[in-house]
Formats: sequence, C-alpha cells, structure tokens
Amino acid sequence: MPTTAARSRPETRPPDARARARRVRQRLLKWYDEHQRRLPWRARPGQAPDPYRVLVSEAMLQQTQVATVLPYFDRFIDALPTVRDLADADEQAVLRLWQGLGYYRRARNLHAAAKAIVLTHGGQVPDRVDQLLKLPGVGRYTAGAVASIAFDKPAPILDGNVARVLARLFLIEQPVDAPDVRKTLWRLAEELVPSARPGDFNQAVMELGALVCTKAGPTCSACPLATVCDALRADRVSSVPVPARRKAPVAVQHHILAIERNGRFLFEQRPADGLWSNMWQMPTAENLSLRADAHGLTGWATRRLNLVLNVPKRLGSFTHQTTHRTIRFRVWLSTATSGRLRPRAGRWRGLGGVDDLPFANPQLRAVGMLKDHLTHRRG
Ligand code: SF4
Repeated sequence: MPTTAARSRPETRPPDARARARRVRQRLLKWYDEHQRRLPWRARPGQAPDPYRVLVSEAMLQQTQVATVLPYFDRFIDALPTVRDLADADEQAVLRLWQGLGYYRRARNLHAAAKAIVLTHGGQVPDRVDQLLKLPGVGRYTAGAVASIAFDKPAPILDGNVARVLARLFLIEQPVDAPDVRKTLWRLAEELVPSARPGDFNQAVMELGALVCTKAGPTCSACPLATVCDALRADRVSSVPVPARRKAPVAVQHHILAIERNGRFLFEQRPADGLWSNMWQMPTAENLSLRADAHGLTGWATRRLNLVLNVPKRLGSFTHQTTHRTIRFRVWLSTATSGRLRPRAGRWRGLGGVDDLPFANPQLRAVGMLKDHLTHRRG
C-alpha cells in the first residue's frame, strides 16, 4: 500500500519500484511477525501500545543498544509509571534513574517533554508528528517513531539501523551523514512506510538492522530481503554503508580528587548547563593547564575550595569517550588537613550515603575505584 504522504503527491516511481516496495513491506512484516523480540515497551499481541512507554523507550534507545536499555527501562517505569508521575518527579530523581545510561541530556529533555505533555496536552502523549516535534528533545526520528509505533500513523523514521538497511537495499555508496544522502534516505523511508501496520514496519526495519543486517557481520543468507537487495546483488555489502565523516575526537585530561575529612568525602553539583549538568561529582579539575602532578592538584584545590590538603595519592586512571572528546581521567585521594570549605562549594558525605546523588558514568567509576581502595585499605 502506498503511504498517506505518498498518495498526496504525484507518483513518480516506475511500476517496478512500486512492486519492489510492496515486496519489501510484505517480506519484512512477515519476518517481523516470526522473529521480533519481546520487549517491555512493545504491545503484546491484541493489546494497544502505551504511548508513554514508547516515548520513554525511544529516548533511552538513542545511541544505546536494546540490551543496555532493558534494566533501565524497567526501573524507570516501575518508579514513574505514567507521564504525570514523570512530570511531577524531581529532576535529581529522574537523573538518578538514568544514572549509568549516559547522554543525560536525554533524561532532562524527557522530563521537560512530560511536563509539556501535561501542560499542553492534558497528560496524553500527542499522536501527530507536528505536535510531537514541539516537545523538548523530540526530533524527526523520535516523532516518527512515537507516531507510528504508538498511534499507527504512517510516519517514516531514520536511525542508524534504518540508514544501514536502506543504504544496502538501494546501494547508496556515499557517506550516510552527507546532507543530500540523508535527504534521499528520508525520502526512501517515507516511500516505504505503509499505511497498514506502519509502526510494525518501522520496528521491523530497525529489528532487521539490529539482528540480521548488522554493521560488522550481516547474515544475508537469513535475510528476508536478500532477493531484492542491491548491495547483495552487486557484491558490495561489506563496503556499504560508507561511514560518516567524523572529526577525530580531541584528547583531554581531567583529574578527579577524592577529598576525605573525618571519614566523609566532598561532593559537588555541576553547573546547570554544559556536559553532565546538575549531576554530582567529586571535585574535578578539567582541561587545566595544570601540571599533572600531586602538588599541582593541591594548589588547585586550595584556590578553588579553600581547603589545605595532604599531597594526593594516585588511585588509578581510565579513559572515557564522548562524541567529541577522549577524556583521560586520573583519580586521586587526599585528606583535608585544614581550611574552611567555601560556602556552597559542596557537601561532605559518607560513601554509604550518596545513593540519592546522580553521578555521570566517569564519576560513578571513580567512586567505585575509591570504594575498592578503602576496602583494601581496611583489609
Ligand atoms: S541481503 Fe544482506 S545486505 Fe541486504 S538487507 Fe539483507 S542482510 Fe542487509
């Protein structure tokens, strides 16, 4: 069946392209019926999907794999089962539920979207793409996913899995992030999405990309689209899609300083904007032209916190990758011997009493490193 959008504009594709699109839809939907994974945000047979669960899952799945998302999704929905519960929740509690999943801006946007849904849509997730696009953090992909999966609207989607499947199916041999290629991929996605079962079709393409037409090892012999796939016919599967052109990440160094005083440690909240905003951390020297030694750090801490420290001992280091930076974290432990902490510079907490504070992944790792060290020190 042609899409609603396709029906509203003149049909320009030749008849064999229409027949091929029909075959792609039929085969993919049949394959999906037999092979789809049971996932907690998917409706059970005969049941309608819950738009709130679909919205939460789509926020969590951005740049994150299904297996990683599963425990977070269950915990999140248990704690905040409705859009109103999320709208009423404290931001720190939302971030705490997201802790470990990364890309925390998604959690803040989802929280803001829930507030907007309650305020503007009476607590009902809107079903139209144009309304969804007005929600914080909702772009064309998420709007299309929610409209099609939750409300059966024939809206296209394009994420990494869909782009890979389409690039191979139609043998597109230019970088998939190039603006004109993105435009082509969106057009193909729009032309393919059917008016009957559009949500299942979109999920089927993503599922095929996740399970069969994978990045590193596509199993074309098990693929329902093998007989209509241009890349397979041309023996070009391994060279498509052409990877996005990305700038090399910048290497930087951060120092995390665990400061102990009377058995407690200092934690501070990050600013309300920028990376890991409003989350908590141990004092961290970022990108400083600080000499990476213990004496440099004590001087930094004294200037910043008004505390005099013993020379810090190095606990270890690790690397954290963000989209644009490769951050080498070094973790240090010191004791505050004197000085009065600057007002509002942080809170002293025992390590057993930080469960209510949301930490981004590197800080979580540093706290784990500190706990291990203290356990061995006691042993
Ligand atoms: S035949 Fe191979 S390359 Fe083509 S869509 Fe299927 S898995 Fe992907």
